Amino acid sequence: MVDFSTIRYVALDADDTLWMNEPIFVKTQDACRDIIDDFITDPKELDEKLYEYEKKNLRLFGYGVKGFVLSMIETVIELSNGKASGSQIQQIIDLGKEMLDHPVHLLETVENSVKVLAEHYTLLCITKGDLFDQENKLARSGIADHFDIVEVVSEKNEQTYTDLLKRHNIPADQFLMAGNSLKSDVLPVLQAGGKAIHIPYHTTWEMEKVSEHQAAGYNYLELGRLSELVDLLRTESQS
Ligand SMILES: [Mg+2]
Repeated sequence: MVDFSTIRYVALDADDTLWMNEPIFVKTQDACRDIIDDFITDPKELDEKLYEYEKKNLRLFGYGVKGFVLSMIETVIELSNGKASGSQIQQIIDLGKEMLDHPVHLLETVENSVKVLAEHYTLLCITKGDLFDQENKLARSGIADHFDIVEVVSEKNEQTYTDLLKRHNIPADQFLMAGNSLKSDVLPVLQAGGKAIHIPYHTTWEMEKVSEHQAAGYNYLELGRLSELVDLLRTESQS
């Protein structure tokens, strides 16, 4: 059993925790595949090569749409042996622009849960990705005002959380983070001494997946939606 009675700070991940994100990447990847259909024989070729470039480029571009677009372009250039046309490259850039312009769709129960959590806790949003895009999505989400602290970070590991807690004078035992990624939102928070809740989303990016043995031995709860966190904390504070 995890004890939540000491919690004063609640942090939420953004992509696929507050709003839908991964399906936009999946849809864009499908559209990219259509653009270079003539150059590939197996649809998997694009997925595998693109993932290779994403992994390789992460060190240079970081997370987010812009890096994804550049990785798609490199993938298409390689898979077409340099024969992809300027207009095909332009189509890929346009796909990226559409992603950045995509309406923000809040996930089920998020709007009300965030409001209630903000009334009882210092509320943080901790997200990684392009700074401008993440800030822009939060601004368009309609829920930005409920957050006391917003942090767009370049990576979410134990050091990130340790530094962040120190920067805001947050004792680790008063800190709870909830998010859809075990790798980014749960395991490193536990390593930094905080508490964590996993709220899985139906689709997870390859890079965010962790194997079962990596997650074994860690003490965290899994919930189905954000309102269940509100219920859980409410029950805790009454007991
Ligand atoms: Mg996420």
